[in-house]
Amino acid sequence: ATPVSVMVGTGKAAELGVLFRKGEALQTLSEADVVALDKTGTLTEGRPTLTDVVLAPDADLDEDALLRLVAAVEVPSEHPVAAAIVRAADRKSLATPPASNFEAVPGFGVSGTVEGRRVDVGADRYMERLGYDAAALAGGAGRLAAEGKTPLYAAVDGRVVAALAVADPVKETTPAAIDALHRAGLRVAMVTGDNRATAEAVAARLGIDEVLAEVLPADKAQAVTDLQAEAGRGGRPARVAFVGDGINDAPALAQADVGVAIGTGTDVAIEAADVVLMRGDLSALVEARALSAATLKNVK
Ligand code: ADP
Ligand code: MG
Repeated sequence: ATPVSVMVGTGKAAELGVLFRKGEALQTLSEADVVALDKTGTLTEGRPTLTDVVLAPDADLDEDALLRLVAAVEVPSEHPVAAAIVRAADRKSLATPPASNFEAVPGFGVSGTVEGRRVDVGADRYMERLGYDAAALAGGAGRLAAEGKTPLYAAVDGRVVAALAVADPVKETTPAAIDALHRAGLRVAMVTGDNRATAEAVAARLGIDEVLAEVLPADKAQAVTDLQAEAGRGGRPARVAFVGDGINDAPALAQADVGVAIGTGTDVAIEAADVVLMRGDLSALVEARALSAATLKNVK
């Protein structure tokens, strides 16, 4: 494309609330075969709420006592799941005691010492990694995941005492955007660190049939590389657009043929992206892609 057509294209895109940070992205976006999307904060609001607490039959504490301990170790965490738990404790006016020895394991969970007791909160794989037995609560957690909620486990002094769930609503504009991407002939894939059953339940609701779940933060870029190794149009390697909002999406945004950041996302994601969706959702993505194809056709 000529510099002038790129200027015209980027100007029209700006009216749609799409910022092209690089002129080339106008071309690469129109050539994408696959759109890979982060789940939390991209497809969903990214502001989960605590919906369920299921105590183990032999738990030696009640729901409020449990929530107080769990919230105490989540206070120092920056994860959206942590914010959901801390807000739930606040709403019940449960004052959280300070936690010491805080440790966050990205993609797994958090640990700390609260009032002399060791507290661990995280995904099933975190309990596994710590060598804890969560079998008594697995059925309940599985049912919560099938509803599209993210199940977590809480352990006190090495015993798994509760399953919790947080739910993060899908953005209102997401279903129509996914349908439009499919109608435009693109493959749509979800890439998430979340539980497989949870991811599949959310994907099924949106008609997304390619799901890469339980992807550790360090492996998100590799997930993009794997998609790029598949065949795209005309048998050439697939061109992949990745859409994300989080700090841990930055490597995947950089690896993608075109990185697209949600404008309300983190600065780190926006800086790693070629395109920014200023409305804070996916609604302008398909229009931006159509515009990019039209701009290029005009100058050929
Ligand atoms: P995503 O951003 O897609 O949820 P992450 O890799 O950040 O992916 O987290 C994956 C999973 O690890 C979460 O769904 C949750 O089960 C667990 N996890 C991460 N951080 C925390 C935390 N602070 N408290 C509890 N669980 C956590
Ligand atoms: Mg996200």
